[in-house]
Amino acid sequence: MGVGLHSGSRVAIKLHPAEAGTGIVFKRVDLVGGGAEIPARWTNVIDSRMCTVIADDSGVSVATVEHLMSAFYGLGVDNVVVEINGPEVPAMDGSAYPFVFLMECAGLIELDAPRQAIRIRKPVSYANGAKLVSVEPAEVGLTVDFEIDFRAAAIGRQSCSVAVDTESFKIDVSRARTFGLLSDVTALREAGLARGGSLENAIVVDGDRILNDDGLRHANEFVLHKALDAIGDMYLTGHPIIGRFLGRCSSHADTAKLMRQVLADPSAWELVELRTDMLAPAWREPMALAAIA
Ligand SMILES: [Zn+2]
Repeated sequence: MGVGLHSGSRVAIKLHPAEAGTGIVFKRVDLVGGGAEIPARWTNVIDSRMCTVIADDSGVSVATVEHLMSAFYGLGVDNVVVEINGPEVPAMDGSAYPFVFLMECAGLIELDAPRQAIRIRKPVSYANGAKLVSVEPAEVGLTVDFEIDFRAAAIGRQSCSVAVDTESFKIDVSRARTFGLLSDVTALREAGLARGGSLENAIVVDGDRILNDDGLRHANEFVLHKALDAIGDMYLTGHPIIGRFLGRCSSHADTAKLMRQVLADPSAWELVELRTDMLAPAWREPMALAAIA
């Protein structure tokens, strides 16, 4: 149970185990008629300006799926039904860690089916002014490189390079919280967004000051959160990725454009059966096709 960052709605989610081949499916159980099912796939993304929103054909939507999607990627969860009784995934503490913690408490089971991955076969990039996103082939696993440069001195220039596996995800990425500038919070609220935003579920920055009493969880927490978002957004391809992602000052919308560009070009990627030697060496239980127990 928690509050949606943008809608401010109080929402509960429940993760259910699912069979191999189900994928990740969101199910709105608060609607008349038993609930609409929305597969977490690129083809269902209807908005990625502030957060990533998916919807079914009739327009029933779930917003801010990216942090939960990122947690699924980090833990190697391919099949799960996410029951949700409102329009937005709860913000929790602004990071993916509460989802990781809850899934680890519930436990994961390995399914008797091969995992498939998307292997990037050639470089693809998308530039939008100073923003740049790209993917390129890699030998093993997914590496996410990210760079940001904010005028607010408390953020400034930061970069990270994460070879994504369960340990690096849990330790470096999952605890990084979303963030906002104090000046933007007013504008967002006027636009009907960030209604549930607070110091409980976001880092708030004003110039060179961080308003949260406890400060930061990592020196480069801001850019690590951008990596968290990119991992979650890329998992809307439905598969783990073998390749290197670079984001420079980019947003959800840029990642969405890039991934659409990649998927539209059959020579840019291929679906492969995932073998242990294709993953980062530290990835635990590499062949797990997992569901929530
Ligand atoms: Zn985020």
